[in-house]
Amino acid sequence: MAARKTTARTTRAKKCPDCKGTGETTETVRVGSVRNSHETTDRQAALCLTCLGTGHATN
Ligand SMILES: [Zn+2]
Repeated sequence: MAARKTTARTTRAKKCPDCKGTGETTETVRVGSVRNSHETTDRQAALCLTCLGTGHATN
């Protein structure tokens, strides 16, 4: 396999629409199964999978 160029840093960086440029998203943590489903109000900061934490849109 040939080495692929990564375009992690581009001069024209757009903000990621998912995390709005922060690089991380907050998702509501859901605890419980189907029979015992209740959502907690806890929020977990997670790395944005859209931009992989860069905060920039990939395209
Ligand atoms: Zn993002």
